Amino acid sequence: MGKIKVAMQWLEACAGCEMSFLDIDERIVELLNHVELSSTPITDLKHPPESGVDVGILSGGIGNLEEEEEARLMRSRCKILIAMGDCAVTGGICTMRNFFPVEEVLRRGYIETESTVEGQIPQHEDLAPLTSKVSGVDDVVPVDIYLPGCPPTADAIWYVLTELLAGRMPKLEGKVLKYGMDGG
Ligand code: SF4
Repeated sequence: MGKIKVAMQWLEACAGCEMSFLDIDERIVELLNHVELSSTPITDLKHPPESGVDVGILSGGIGNLEEEEEARLMRSRCKILIAMGDCAVTGGICTMRNFFPVEEVLRRGYIETESTVEGQIPQHEDLAPLTSKVSGVDDVVPVDIYLPGCPPTADAIWYVLTELLAGRMPKLEGKVLKYGMDGG
């Protein structure tokens, strides 16, 4: 059997989920015997190939129009989509801004912060407009596997990937979801 193709992308995320992925440590060598990482935030290729991948992994919530597009692109090019981490599952900590209107959030962040002098809200055609609320990935596209945790433990990520490699849909329950497992 050939290697399964995996693509990763982060949306509104802090990179903690990717750090947890790397916490798989030496098992990553074993993983790479079975998996081809086709695109990741830390490689030159950022988008999944047009030919598609077997597994897409999204971390982070969706809080602007570019992130919505990234989620749709990944969904359209992968067979199984994993929402990795609380932000991807529910919007996570990024949803703290949902209690306020977008204009107020931007004003507070760029103008009214105590340490800011003569601040201004950045505006450029390359900057994606914020959505009115931050959401989890499944508000925009269907998700097949939810991998919660902030971040999910390395063991939980390892469990999900190895179950998929074995041809099974992972069942995330009990010990796998416990925070602070070995390695996490
Ligand atoms: S789930 Fe936690 S670790 Fe992962 S991107 Fe969100 S805040 Fe960062």
